[in-house]
Amino acid sequence: MKTMEIRVPDIGDFKEVEVIELMVKEGDEIRKDQSLLLVESDKASMEIPSPQAGKVRKMLVKLGDKVSEGSALLLLDAEEAAKEIVPEDRSRQSDNRSRENTAPSAAENPTFVECDTLVLGAGPGGYTAAFRAADLGQKVVLVERYPVLGGVCLNVGCIPSKALLHAAKVISDVQEMAHHGIRYGKPEIDPVQLNRWKQGVVDKLTGGLSALARARKITVLHGIGQFAGTHEMDVTGKNGQWRVQFKNAIIAAGSSAAKLPGFPYGHAALVDSTGALQLDSIPEKMLVIGGGIIGLEMACVYDALGAKVTVAEFSDGLIPSADRDVVLPLLDRIKKRYEAVLVRTRVTKLEEDGKRLIATFDGNNAPSEPLAFDLVLVAVGRRPNGASIGADRVGVFVDEHGFIPVNRRQQTNVPHIYAIGDICGEPMLAHKASYEGKVAAEVIAGLKTEYDAMTVPSVAYTDPEIAWMGLTEEQAVKQGIPYEKSVFPWSASGRALTMGRPDGLTKLLWDKKTGRLLGAAIAGTGAGELLSETTLALEMGCALEDIALTVHPHPSLSETVMFAAEIGLGTIADLYIPGKK
Ligand SMILES: Cc1cc2nc3c(=O)[nH]c(=O)nc-3n(C[C@H](O)[C@H](O)[C@H](O)COP(=O)(O)OP(=O)(O)OC[C@H]3O[C@@H](n4cnc5c(N)ncnc54)[C@H](O)[C@@H]3O)c2cc1C
Repeated sequence: MKTMEIRVPDIGDFKEVEVIELMVKEGDEIRKDQSLLLVESDKASMEIPSPQAGKVRKMLVKLGDKVSEGSALLLLDAEEAAKEIVPEDRSRQSDNRSRENTAPSAAENPTFVECDTLVLGAGPGGYTAAFRAADLGQKVVLVERYPVLGGVCLNVGCIPSKALLHAAKVISDVQEMAHHGIRYGKPEIDPVQLNRWKQGVVDKLTGGLSALARARKITVLHGIGQFAGTHEMDVTGKNGQWRVQFKNAIIAAGSSAAKLPGFPYGHAALVDSTGALQLDSIPEKMLVIGGGIIGLEMACVYDALGAKVTVAEFSDGLIPSADRDVVLPLLDRIKKRYEAVLVRTRVTKLEEDGKRLIATFDGNNAPSEPLAFDLVLVAVGRRPNGASIGADRVGVFVDEHGFIPVNRRQQTNVPHIYAIGDICGEPMLAHKASYEGKVAAEVIAGLKTEYDAMTVPSVAYTDPEIAWMGLTEEQAVKQGIPYEKSVFPWSASGRALTMGRPDGLTKLLWDKKTGRLLGAAIAGTGAGELLSETTLALEMGCALEDIALTVHPHPSLSETVMFAAEIGLGTIADLYIPGKK
């Protein structure tokens, strides 16, 4: 054993970064690669790993100290060099724009690794599968091309977008209180600080994942994974190459933003959702191409921050997969707030004009002249990454879109190779990915599990929120399913009125014969939270009576679900519906 000084490794251009968390203390026994402390600059936060296993003799830094490459951090009584796999750069740099730039290099002299289960991709599907498999006794290798775990959802999807949407809601709530006698000044928005807060939320969650993986003794390899055989994967990282031999593999490699051809990608004003989340500055005029969930959520953020927003959607309506009735309250509100909401409108051309882009439109509602924008977001859906992982080379069927079809046990056509999450089909949602991750891990571990969720709920966290689950009315009609429906308008909800937001509705669909719930759709503040009651009701096979006869707290938005059921049964007291008993 020898005492050595552990210093800050090469952390790129970062200098004088602040120590914001000490992750070990004097006397701790630590493993090689265990994170010692967390440092933060205005651009990123990073965990500094230990290059050696051993016992911490003395800490040489404290919280708030500023450190740079080479600064001494602690004295370690080091053990013999452990024979561990050294993953590539463990620092958690979180500049998301650089996330898309990792390129593989050819594998030479790889390190061989064996495992029971290999998981490719550490998004919500992959990390859930890896954690569950490890908990069920499997030796797990988790392969992720970026230095942080969490995938799209945690790094550039669900979490950062919801942080910004929360900020947007606070701004618009405050603005609306002006009509009720409380006035504040115009908000002063500091995009740098807002970004820092958003990134802090992301870093907390992704850092937590690394700790959870370590606690489960999962080997995390940072590099690009490509199938090399039916039981082999090559992983090429910045600092290492591995050949992993596995008994079973779970593909959780997710999806990427779809692009429209012919646009000037590379121009600073043209972004996808990752670029829009970066929020470098607030544009005066913004064009959102695509009226789906992601486009409308980002429109909501930029509108609240003060941009003049135009939305162009090429199909007949916004959020095409949602029940039409619940989209209307959103449409009503954004039509008043935004510069324009153009459905049945296609952007045919985007031309550079200095820092701006000039958009040409086509379609029923197209502006007659091209228009100039300071920021253009392309949010036209996501493409599964199935074609880029070498799966087809080992006999896994990948369809023409890049999806990898699976059965109810999440198995591909190659039975010991599973696929989960965005890569195996719609809806591309984080909670579907994690549900499927558990199914795959449990099937591999020999449990009698299969995909049997009755629905995957969907939520657009816009203002108002739009949430739906089960059957939509359009689907019921199309499939010829006999149904009945009821709609409770939030203008009759005491709670909605006290919140100044009566612009919502709760709609239920049920089986004409049995009265069992078939679907629900809700528009309004907090609709995403309210939807869970109806999702549980569907899973439990509840009929309208079960919902109507459950006592709900008053005044609450959850009452609107009960009221909608009471309308269906004709027992509602809070509305007068002529002809009902
Ligand atoms: C802006 C935005 C907002 C969103 N908001 C929501 C929301 O509110 N709620 C919701 O449910 N969903 C939301 N989503 C969708 C959600 O993020 C995805 O459905 C979810 O992340 C899918 O999880 P996944 O595990 O299948 O894949 P991903 O999260 O895409 O993870 C796949 C991982 O695999 C890695 N990978 C890919 N190929 C390789 C390779 N060859 N080698 C190594 N690693 C590889 C990737 O780097 C990535 O980390 C949002 C998406 C976006 C873009």
